[in-house]
Amino acid sequence: MKAVVFEGYKTFPVMKEVDKPSPGPGEVLLKVAGSGACHSDVGLFHEYPGDPSGFLTPPFVLGHEVSGWVEELGAGVSGVTVGQAYLVYGPIGCGHCVSCARGQDTYCLDVPSVGHLGTGLGRDGGMAEYMTTYARNLVPLGDLDPVAAAPLTDASLTCYHAIKRVLPHLTTPGATALCIGLGGLGLAGVQIIRALTGATVYATDTKPDAVAVAETYGAIGIPTEGAAERIKQLTGGRGISAVFDFVGAGPTLELAAATVAQRGALTVLGLAGHDFAWNAFTVPFEVNFSCTYWGGLDELFEVVELYRTGKITPRVQVYPLDRALDAYQDLLDGKVSGRAVIAPHGG
Ligand SMILES: [Zn+2]
Ligand SMILES: [Zn+2]
Repeated sequence: MKAVVFEGYKTFPVMKEVDKPSPGPGEVLLKVAGSGACHSDVGLFHEYPGDPSGFLTPPFVLGHEVSGWVEELGAGVSGVTVGQAYLVYGPIGCGHCVSCARGQDTYCLDVPSVGHLGTGLGRDGGMAEYMTTYARNLVPLGDLDPVAAAPLTDASLTCYHAIKRVLPHLTTPGATALCIGLGGLGLAGVQIIRALTGATVYATDTKPDAVAVAETYGAIGIPTEGAAERIKQLTGGRGISAVFDFVGAGPTLELAAATVAQRGALTVLGLAGHDFAWNAFTVPFEVNFSCTYWGGLDELFEVVELYRTGKITPRVQVYPLDRALDAYQDLLDGKVSGRAVIAPHGG
């Protein structure tokens, strides 16, 4: 079968023929429906000088934001229906530690025993016709379109987790949010904040068309030029209750620090990994400053509910598998609006 293989750091991925996988004990074989091209893949093949974790050793098939139809069950698997559509919870932990016990494989305490971080992250992922994963990692989609739903597993889940943990900042009367960077994650973030809270949402991006999309989701668009001053003005000098930086680059971190309110929350979700010089006076007093990574298995069920009830809708551009490398090139060139989703079997 055809697959997009990550072969080395600072090396553009290649499309090649690989063996169709077969499911081991506890695993299922999935016919891939949708596989999102995520900016962290660009991190792997273009930005990072080498393995940032020690558990992302090439070669492996990319694709960590995946949905599919169960094709075959491995030994000992029950409770999963062949032919039905599921989302894949991408992180894979040891399954036994306290983090895995609460469905938070992202923070598994025993990664060395697993040897990789998840599907498409050290283990073969979904940029292919077929992939395998553990039955435990499947979240049922029912009659929902699995191609359009693929970004729920990463873009939406990552935002949902970050937003949920600072929810008290967003649910007090007069609360405000700022979303910096409006790609696949940022646009999902705007929708989720609007779905969960009554906060006023501001949104900014260097691309005016991305800001225009955020406005259709109910955000107040802010051009990046003079954004900090404009936001201070709009909030009566107080700043923003909860700032989300979906990029993690120098200028976005600076904007986040310049706009967060005293006792506010500043969450960095983007993994650009740029440095940010910090001292006791860089951000206002009592700001909760944190970085988050992906989300929990339980939270993915909640994200699917938001989608099922029409409260969030991922913005997708669908590509056939033959054009998966074009999708990555478009992502690299900043030409993708929302999320590029590869649909190997049409969609
Ligand atoms: Zn991702
Ligand atoms: Zn674990």
